[in-house]
Amino acid sequence: MTHRITATREDGTDFEVAYGYGRGRRRLLGCRHCDWRERTTHGEARHQGLDHLAQAHGALGSPRMTADPPARRQTVLIMLACVAVAAVVVWWAASQG
Ligand SMILES: [Zn+2]
Repeated sequence: MTHRITATREDGTDFEVAYGYGRGRRRLLGCRHCDWRERTTHGEARHQGLDHLAQAHGALGSPRMTADPPARRQTVLIMLACVAVAAVVVWWAASQG
């Protein structure tokens, strides 16, 4: 689980749904406060998580999906790797001309 979808109830209690990859790279949502689990797609994850928090726990708010620091670092490394590969390809193509 690499992301969190959070919402706050009127009395200030925070509720959280975790989002990430389960076995076989399937995207899964899992509630931290009950047994709710659901398969999802990337675009639907936040919506589904919020729906559950609202319906099952009465928690609303301005929820946002936050990445854990390690996941964010990994994303940056992957982006840097892609840029490096692209630079090599461009350099190679230019040197062939
Ligand atoms: Zn729940």
